[in-house]
Amino acid sequence: MKNNTRTRPSMLSVVAITAIACAALLGGNLLPGASAQRLRPQRRSVQEVGVDRGTVARAESYTRDRFDYFTETPRGARVAAVNRPRAEALRAIDQGLSDLFVAARRAGYRAGLNHADYVVFIARADRTRDSAGAYSPDMAFAAGNYAGSVYDRGGTMYAAGMVPSYSPAALVVAEHDRDFGRMANVVRYEGEHLVLYHNDRRRFQETADHTRGGAHPILQ
Ligand SMILES: [Zn+2]
Repeated sequence: MKNNTRTRPSMLSVVAITAIACAALLGGNLLPGASAQRLRPQRRSVQEVGVDRGTVARAESYTRDRFDYFTETPRGARVAAVNRPRAEALRAIDQGLSDLFVAARRAGYRAGLNHADYVVFIARADRTRDSAGAYSPDMAFAAGNYAGSVYDRGGTMYAAGMVPSYSPAALVVAEHDRDFGRMANVVRYEGEHLVLYHNDRRRFQETADHTRGGAHPILQ
C-alpha cells in the first residue's frame, strides 16, 4: 500500500446507477502471447485521442486522480492514465475487451462491441495486495451503500474497477506492474456492465448492484 493512500469518497451513495465499483474476486490467468514487441505507447493529447473532457473530469472526481496521459491501444481503445502505461497494460486492455466481446456476441448482443467504443482509465492503486496477500492492485472507496456487505472493510471497500460513465462507455482499472492477465479480467468484468447497459437494460439493472449478490463474470 502506498504511503499517500487516501480513501476516495463514496461514489456509490451519490450516483448509484452512473457509477459502479466492482470488488469481484478475480483469477490470475496468464495473457497469451504477451511477450514480443516492445511498443512504446505514444503520448497524445486528449483531443487527438478523442476522450471527452467531461468524462475525464468525472473519472477524476471519483478516483481523486489526475489523468493526463492519453494514448490508444493497438486495437483502438482510448486510454487515459495517471502515468505512461506499459505496453503490456495496453495489450491487457485489448485482450479484456476482446474476451468481453466474445461473451457478448455469444449472448446475442451487438451494440458497443468495438475497441474504439471504450475509454479505459488507468488509476493509481490504493493497495497492491489483498487481505490474503495476493497481488491485487485495487482502489479504495468509502463503503457507501456497500457498508455492512462482504465488501466492507471497516468503512472502506476495495474495488478492482469501476464504471464512471456509460455514454461514452468508460471504465477505470488500477495500475498493474505485473499479472496483466488480472488486469485484462478487470477490464472484461467492468465492461460487462457497459455491454449490458447498451444491450439489455433490464439485465443491467438486475446485475448492477453487487450488494444484492452476484459477481463476475455475468456473461459466460
Ligand atoms: Zn461489477
